[in-house]
Amino acid sequence: MQALLERSFPRVHSALSREIVSGDSLLYRWQGTDPALKPILLIAHMDVVPGDMGTATNWTHGPFSGDIADGFIWGRGALDDKSAVMGALEAVEYLLGQGMTPRRTLYLAFGHDEELSGEQGAVKIRELLAARGIQFDFSLDEGLTVLEGMVPGISAPVALIGVTEKGYLSLLLTAEGQGGHVSMPPLETSVGRLAKALTRLEAHQMPASLQPPASTMLDDLAPRAPFWTRFLFANRWLFAPLLLARLEASPETNALIRTTTAPTLFSGGIKENVLPGTAKATVNFRLLPGDRIDDVIAHVRKVIDDPLVRIEPIGVRGEAPPLADVEGRGFALIGQTIAQIFPDTVVAPGLVLAGTDSVNYAPLVQSSYRFLPVSLAATDLSGVHGVDERISIANYERLIRFYIEFLRKAVSE
Ligand SMILES: [Zn+2]
Repeated sequence: MQALLERSFPRVHSALSREIVSGDSLLYRWQGTDPALKPILLIAHMDVVPGDMGTATNWTHGPFSGDIADGFIWGRGALDDKSAVMGALEAVEYLLGQGMTPRRTLYLAFGHDEELSGEQGAVKIRELLAARGIQFDFSLDEGLTVLEGMVPGISAPVALIGVTEKGYLSLLLTAEGQGGHVSMPPLETSVGRLAKALTRLEAHQMPASLQPPASTMLDDLAPRAPFWTRFLFANRWLFAPLLLARLEASPETNALIRTTTAPTLFSGGIKENVLPGTAKATVNFRLLPGDRIDDVIAHVRKVIDDPLVRIEPIGVRGEAPPLADVEGRGFALIGQTIAQIFPDTVVAPGLVLAGTDSVNYAPLVQSSYRFLPVSLAATDLSGVHGVDERISIANYERLIRFYIEFLRKAVSE
């Protein structure tokens, strides 16, 4: 990958400094002439999820073929997130070719383990930057995109700029059994106890609430929506319960208004005629901005209400990071560039439901924005972490033009 980048972007590799971090991650610096200006940070990741997933045969073009056919570039990473790596480098290469010298310093940070939470990549790069005392005005990373025909009732394309992402917590639940012989089982087994605990958790979710960024997003989209939706929003003080009930009805919008509860692993027993001593389940929570990890654990304890079910955190990636400023320079620059490259698009702040490397840089960055400049329909999204990931050539070209225009503005003021 490093050799390919060196070959493909000769100007970048002569004009920018490059550091290799943890063997595979890359940190580029394009030095600005005005040291008084806080640098900006462009984040992307070079690693991808596996291509086969037991479904390699279903790909139209092999997941690592990189085939260019039928107007598309095919393969793992085409959208998530090599398009951003290559597109950003294409843009800098182009701007260098135009003789551009930045006033403001730009860093490009390309991790190699984002899909594994960035411990060796983004975290190490952050430590390096922190040791040098570098603070960023804002950052731009993957996250949300331009959506076509995916927002009910809105015919125009909608560009969502992610201003935060959900937090992440997994809890291990362990139910101890009373033991005994399977032919004379106790009235309550460990499996039964655990099943009840999970049923209660699913029936009593964390409370829903409409707050930023979901509320800001809906406020910005409402003027484009059909009359009844507009009416509900304009009178939110009156219709809040109705609005929440509507949003709770589909998984996509439900995830925007509450901390979600998802049982993912369930085990107990080793033989069909032996009572298991313990049964275990893992439940994954994605935390709404504002919900604390302690709140979730307290909620789980109260709902399960069974001292014989032990509750332990096992995967704590943390609470949702602070909201990026929607009035800030970064948001305005991204918005202006969207208007230029994706005309007639409605722009709104959004909540990223998955995780990104931005959280790993958060301590150094004033405002972290999450937007990949591609325009997607529902069919394109199925390729991300799925089969037939691809990007259209038109989309890729537009992505490069976005980065050119965005960087031109971002580093010159
Ligand atoms: Zn990604």
